[in-house]
Amino acid sequence: MNAVRVSKFGGTSLADAAQFRKVREIVLADAARRVVVPSAPGRRSSEDDKVTDLLYRCHALAAAGEDFAGVFAEVGERFRGIADELGLSLDLGPVLAEAEHQIGLVAIDGGSAEYAASRGEAINGRLVAELLGAEYVDAVEVIRFDGEGRFDAAASYALVADRLDFSEEGKRYVVPGFYGADYEGAVRTFSRGGSDVTGAVVARGVGASVYENWTDVPGLLVTDPRVVPGAFPIEVMTYRELRELSYSGATVLHEDAVFPVREAGIPVVIKSTNAPAEPGTRIVSGHDPEAAAIYEITGIAGRKDFTVITLEKAMMNSAVGFGRRVLTVLEEMGISFEHMPSGIDTMSLVVADEALEGGRLEAVKARLREELGLIEDEVDHDADLALIATVGRGMSRKPGSSAKLFGALADAGVNIRVIDQGSSELNIIVGVATADYEKAVRAIYAAFIGDGGGGDGGR
Ligand code: ASP
Repeated sequence: MNAVRVSKFGGTSLADAAQFRKVREIVLADAARRVVVPSAPGRRSSEDDKVTDLLYRCHALAAAGEDFAGVFAEVGERFRGIADELGLSLDLGPVLAEAEHQIGLVAIDGGSAEYAASRGEAINGRLVAELLGAEYVDAVEVIRFDGEGRFDAAASYALVADRLDFSEEGKRYVVPGFYGADYEGAVRTFSRGGSDVTGAVVARGVGASVYENWTDVPGLLVTDPRVVPGAFPIEVMTYRELRELSYSGATVLHEDAVFPVREAGIPVVIKSTNAPAEPGTRIVSGHDPEAAAIYEITGIAGRKDFTVITLEKAMMNSAVGFGRRVLTVLEEMGISFEHMPSGIDTMSLVVADEALEGGRLEAVKARLREELGLIEDEVDHDADLALIATVGRGMSRKPGSSAKLFGALADAGVNIRVIDQGSSELNIIVGVATADYEKAVRAIYAAFIGDGGGGDGGR
């Protein structure tokens, strides 16, 4: 069998007829692009609605017993506009009528919003299939969930492998993203942005040579361009680096989309539908020869809105069971922590602010005092913390990376409140005051990459 590429196109890549034409050109340019996974039409401009959002709105109205025909008509217009402009022959009338009817029924039955939301991909998939002369495979046939709505990976890989047959030369398939069905046949969806996951699952199921994720940015950028204008795309990175950067705030791919392809060592390529000639970002396994590190750092990402809870107790280091009791308090209160840097007689817990809302910060401090026998000042907190992760496989076993990082922050007058470096040496995380966040990211960028003035930063 020839190498198969699975190409997923996001909502902005399919927002209108002009974007559909770009998609056709991209797919037809490479005979290996034999499976296409489309999202629903996204926003055409910043004021526009995503078809998926309109469909969720239809469901909410129907469930409240209100009329949703007006909102559904907007959905219909989007699809009709695309089909008419492209001269497609699919008879949308019955397809739309069926969806509208079912959305009404599901809502009356107290059914979930999943069926309604899935129609964006289901209908768009049929238009894309006609545009490409491909066979449409409804995702309910190949993407399986259990009765609780949990994705069943093994069943889905097997169904995909069984259903998509590449023996006929030139045959292409379209599998709509975002949804599938449970064992009973009820439609289930992934979380928002889940067409990325469908693409990865299909790539894994067919044993693709590469999983292409087409979007509206030319790859994952070295850092947030709102903070450093001119930040350019990363050429090659590893799955682990992607995980670190996305956890720390860089977004380009749904987080559940990495696991299926990573396990099978299928490279992911992020590319822009609006600039297909650009190389994009390639994500490969750490063993891949392409992963040989060229640059010291791969990217810088960060997130705001954290609080550090600090615990202090003389002789803490020899108090057996102290850490366990701290973690038990958090577990019982259902609070997860991000990092836990510790000193001889101190321990800090870095927690996202949203986990501490509604008086939970004071409550957890009180519980910690009680549980650990600590007095008032021994449990304290420091709010307004931002975390910045500097990620790079090139830093490992390279002396001087942290000196450069800390030196850059010192020169910029940024005080570091928390430091955390994993033993993998893949990243160094620093916590700084929220007000220093942008300044700190720019200082790190300048130290490792360049001036950020739109050039290639010495690359
Ligand atoms: N259309 C869905 C959403 O808006 C899924 C996707 O685009 O990946 O979340």
